Amino acid sequence: MNSPLKRFPPKVSGPEALRDYQLKGLQWTVERVYSNCTFYRNKMEAAGVYPEDIQSLDDIERLPFIDADDLRNDYPFPLRTADFSEIVRIHSSSGTTGKRKILCYTQKDIDDWAYMFGRCYEMAGITLEDRVQICVGYGLWTAGVGFQNGCEKFGALAIPVGPGNMEMQCDFLIDMQSTVVCSTASMALLLAEEVHRRKIRDKIKLKKVILGAERASDGMIRTIKELLGIDEVYDIPGLTELYGPGTGLNCRYGSGIHYWADFYILEILNPETLKPVAPGEIGEMVYTTLGKEGSPLIRYRSRDLTRLLADECACGCGLPRHDRILGRSDDMCILRGVNVYPGQIDEILSAVSGAGSEYQLYIERRGDGKDYMTLRVERTANMHESGDKALAESIAKKLKSRLMVSCSVDIAPHGSLPRSEKKTKRVFDSRAY
Ligand code: ZN
Repeated sequence: MNSPLKRFPPKVSGPEALRDYQLKGLQWTVERVYSNCTFYRNKMEAAGVYPEDIQSLDDIERLPFIDADDLRNDYPFPLRTADFSEIVRIHSSSGTTGKRKILCYTQKDIDDWAYMFGRCYEMAGITLEDRVQICVGYGLWTAGVGFQNGCEKFGALAIPVGPGNMEMQCDFLIDMQSTVVCSTASMALLLAEEVHRRKIRDKIKLKKVILGAERASDGMIRTIKELLGIDEVYDIPGLTELYGPGTGLNCRYGSGIHYWADFYILEILNPETLKPVAPGEIGEMVYTTLGKEGSPLIRYRSRDLTRLLADECACGCGLPRHDRILGRSDDMCILRGVNVYPGQIDEILSAVSGAGSEYQLYIERRGDGKDYMTLRVERTANMHESGDKALAESIAKKLKSRLMVSCSVDIAPHGSLPRSEKKTKRVFDSRAY
């Protein structure tokens, strides 16, 4: 097969060579953190595992896990494995509680990240002539500079507008004739609605949208495509702890996301037993980096949920795929003994004609001591309110058959639920545990 990746190809070709490459990277990383990072050395010694114990890829299961709490507790330079003379930058992700997570980057880390991001742009079919309007946040956050470095490494024209400011976004779409927009899904939806409202679609040259930093549902993607008049929307996953955005991309053949397995190992584990799930089952994404110097990850529990896709992709790029992010294990609500996560709601709504992509899920415990779930969802712009009752019934029925829990459904007018330029809050769980 003819791989779409010519300028940013996989570091090795074929599954066997990839496994060898991953083992070498794992051994290098374990040796390095054991020698250079007190935090990791203490963790490994407590678990009774030493660098020489890592003889095969399966030996990764002997290594202890780390998570966001470790990064906060080891503040201000958690996981630091390089000398300060080699560290050229830090990034930070804001935690909702407590201290920030700070990650260190050496020049090699920055270069590797740009290579991975360049690969994303190549996979999305971007060309050197493309003009890339980057509508995500700059600063300590990894998004802006990640999209930008990758764009420059790739060689397209970067237009670093940043998030928000619809007036300016629309001006730039017209004046710069931007062909690509990079943003969160919520921001892309706002921008698409604004372009539609201003009736400027025939004045712009937009061809592709690359989404990052937020889970996007089929319904949102459909609306973005319709209102902007484009065919291609790509989804970039990524988290600050693992360089930032740009560590994988969906290709145009399917919904799965190719991930850059020549830079990190992805384990999909049952969040309770921490053992690998059966192939194709949903589990938590756990990351181990292969060549990261500043703040390497060994078995970092991301809390993000997805599943591996086993079948080979028609694009021929040769790198493995996982499904889109289906939610977070800590967003998962347990309702009457059933696990419910927002990704399932997205999927269900996307399949109901007349249901918009925007919704809010309320969970409460009432006087009878039982838990109740209410879904408030927008009807699409072309639906009349006379159809609300039938729409609500159809959604409730689908929810019941897919999730095995009852849910009351309220239909809201199109455009009435809050939109955000960053990530939209959708689950409101008022139960006090
Ligand atoms: Zn593919």
